[in-house]
Amino acid sequence: MAFCIFCKIAAKEIPADIVYEDDEIIAFNDLNPQAPTHILVIPKNHIESVDHAEGNDKLLLGKLLMSAATIAKSVGLSEKGYRVVTNVGDDGGQSVNHLHLHVLGGRHLTWPPG
Ligand code: 5GP
Ligand code: ZN
Repeated sequence: MAFCIFCKIAAKEIPADIVYEDDEIIAFNDLNPQAPTHILVIPKNHIESVDHAEGNDKLLLGKLLMSAATIAKSVGLSEKGYRVVTNVGDDGGQSVNHLHLHVLGGRHLTWPPG
């Protein structure tokens, strides 16, 4: 696999502001936040995007989404709401090719996104 910044963060080879971690998942604050709270939730294993997930990733993907909700709750986003989004490929606006869920909150988010 080519150099992957999120694999490096998961391996603690590059620092990040980590807000949650277990054996399969790590979550950290986005370097360039688009909302008062902007957390990235990623699998530690390299999966390029949801488009590249396979049958045996089903449990992990469920856990990723549940973790996003738990993390959102833990930082106080549940009451007013928040957004969980994953960008896929060029048209989806994906700039880091390691699957990640964005958890955005702390302001009113408009729809549709640009
Ligand atoms: P994408 O555009 O792929 O959906 O989202 C990638 C996100 O990763 C962007 O919001 C960007 O700010 C964030 N990001 C890119 N490099 C780093 C990094 O080295 N550390 C952290 N914490 N976030 C990063
Ligand atoms: Zn990676």
